[in-house]
Amino acid sequence: MEKKIKIIIKNLFFFLVLIFTTCTSKTYDLIITDGFIADGTGSRLFKSNIYIRNGKIVEIGIKDNAVGTKVINAKGLVVAPGFIDMHTHSERKSLDHPAVENYLQQGVTTMLGGNCGSSPYPISDFISKTESKGIGPNLALLIGHNTIRQQVMGTENRIASNQELKEMQKLVQFSMDDGAFGMSTGLKYIPGAYSNTEEVVKLASIVAKNGGFYATHMREEGIGLIKATEEAINIGREAKLPVQISHHKAVGKS
Ligand SMILES: [Zn+2]
Repeated sequence: MEKKIKIIIKNLFFFLVLIFTTCTSKTYDLIITDGFIADGTGSRLFKSNIYIRNGKIVEIGIKDNAVGTKVINAKGLVVAPGFIDMHTHSERKSLDHPAVENYLQQGVTTMLGGNCGSSPYPISDFISKTESKGIGPNLALLIGHNTIRQQVMGTENRIASNQELKEMQKLVQFSMDDGAFGMSTGLKYIPGAYSNTEEVVKLASIVAKNGGFYATHMREEGIGLIKATEEAINIGREAKLPVQISHHKAVGKS
């Protein structure tokens, strides 16, 4: 009888220890351990653990008794927020290869497409197709100036009429309503090369009213680089919106 009681007490003890451990240990969906963390603020790397629950980082530090459904050992690795690639043409192939795995493998989790004046049109159609197929990284789109000009004027080598300008402005507004984050130009390419600065300012003003920004593949990146850069800055000043000069470089002899 006494032995039986001893066994019961012993079992009870283990049971209580188990309950206590379960109560004091916190559970997470994912724990990333031992990595060097780049927190995205520009501060120095630091070694710690990251605790994730319901898709969100809930704690960073060293927690005793933490239990993860999944644990990733990041020893010797850097753990960083997903990169945002502001200049891609990945949307040209993302419907054929929806995982866009090459970007994910490089740590890019958000891509901005529709650069250099060329984009899908209408953007809403492209977004619907993308949503029905699914896509690996996040995708944001710009509306392309060349795309818009082509819709209204084909590849005509001339300045736009007032009527054509108004028509293009409408299509820019339509695209912003569809979810574009801004407008890109490819002023080196046809038909964007046929436009003047005033045309771009008028279209960029519509983008500005909608809180978007302007990205440009400038008219020139070699001889004429300074003039082209001035044009980009002036477009931003006159249309009152932020400017991003795409793949900014100087080409040619120094
Ligand atoms: Zn470009």
